Order: sequence, then structure tokens, then C-alpha cells
Amino acid sequence: MPYASSGFVIKHDLENEYALVDLGNAPDVSLEEQLKGWGISLENISLVALTHLHSDHAPPAGIRTITESADCPILLSQTGWEHQGDERVVEMKSLLEKSGRMELLDSAGEMECGNWSVSWRPLTHAVTGQPVFGGNTAFRINTVIVSGDGPIWELFTEDNKPFFYPAQGDPVRTMAVNIAHLSLEDLKLQDYPEERKKRWREEHGLLEDLLKTMVDPQFNDFYMNLKTLIPTHIRRRMREESAILYKNEIDKICAEQGFGLKVVFDV
Ligand SMILES: [Zn+2]
Repeated sequence: MPYASSGFVIKHDLENEYALVDLGNAPDVSLEEQLKGWGISLENISLVALTHLHSDHAPPAGIRTITESADCPILLSQTGWEHQGDERVVEMKSLLEKSGRMELLDSAGEMECGNWSVSWRPLTHAVTGQPVFGGNTAFRINTVIVSGDGPIWELFTEDNKPFFYPAQGDPVRTMAVNIAHLSLEDLKLQDYPEERKKRWREEHGLLEDLLKTMVDPQFNDFYMNLKTLIPTHIRRRMREESAILYKNEIDKICAEQGFGLKVVFDV
């Protein structure tokens, strides 16, 4: 789905090695085909991290491919795993379990995984039923952050500063962040059922929250070093127009703050 990407390939700086965060949402093209399009074969994938088990991030076909044909650790949070009891994912869960390569993570942490430096934080998301803190996991893998699904204000906190500022290695260069909607005010005006609006407020990103983090002095160095910002999961109607609106607002703050980052979409 344009402007709604939920699968990312991260290239390692030194090796012919790649990590995947989530497995995309392109029902017509297999994961293998998509990777092949970029000249990547499954043998080059040395890490898979899943933010949560919603089918737009962890589609059954993709799970089948990585559990059957790839040979690498698959990271997923314990909370995300436990709160996914939906019948539709019973098969996926059993494939993941059978692979023997799944590593269930504490809600937050940091580790070296092969050649990868991995850090992660919990965000509120309803995998099935009620929203739960830790239903989604935001990952930082080497110099790339992928937030998955969850509120931006919950990720950009003082406690989470180590997530944005790696103690070792290069600073974060790329961030893919869920920006489902513009603002609370805009969401109020939109013609959606109340229940949906509530879910977007509680479990997804708003542009106004991102803009606040961009003028927050404690994240100034983070944005100074950031080269690419990828808004994902746009759910506001007229996605293309919304994307342009997002880009203009972000560019405006970048000009004011002296940030050199580029806003890039998955189209
Ligand atoms: Zn989700």
C-alpha cells in the first residue's frame, strides 16, 4: 500500500548482510521476489525483527518464507507474543515456534546479535482486543530506527534517550516512524467511527507529536544527525495529499532548526 509501508531492509555497512524489520504488506509480490528485486537473496538475511504480529507487518506468507527458507534469529517481544491470541495467527505462531529461531525479548533492552547492534522499546498497541503497553516494539538496528505501530509521544521520552543516542558506533541516520494522522484536532474533524479515532489516538502516531520532538532540545542532536525520515502507516484520507502536507510541515521545522534530513516515502 503506498504511504503505508511496514517492511524494511537494512543493509550492513561492512558485509553483504541484511536485516529485515517486519515483512511488508505487498500481497501480490512474495517476500523473496521483493528481495530479489534489490539483488538480495534470503541467505543474505542475518536478522529478522518483528514489531508485532499484525498481518500488515507480519503477513502469513512472509512468516512462512522466513521460517522455512531463511536461517537467522527472529526477534519479537514476549508481550507482543503473549497478546497475540487471534485465531488468524495461530498458524504463524506455530511456524515461528517450530523454526526454533525465535528469540522472545524483554520489553526493552539492547544486545549484539551477530554483526548487528539491536536496541528496542515497548509502545502501546492492540494486537488483539485492548491496547497493551508492549503490544508493539520499536527497534533500532545499527543506525536505523523503525517504530512499527505506536504513539510518537510514548517513544520520544527522557527515559528513552539511550534509544536515540547509541552509546557506541555511528548515530542514527534513518528513522521510519508511524504517522497515521495529522493532529488530534484534524482527527476530530474526520469522518471516521469514534472507535477508530480512539484507536488512532492511543495506538498510532500523530504528526503534531513528531513536530514537538523536533523542537525539543533533548532530541536536537538526534535530528541534526538524521539523514532520512520515512513517515509510514499514513491512514488519513487522501494519502498522497496528506503525505505532501506532512512533508511540508516537517521541512518547515527542519529549515527553522537547521536540520538537513530528507523526508522520503515508500512510493
Ligand atoms: Zn498494527
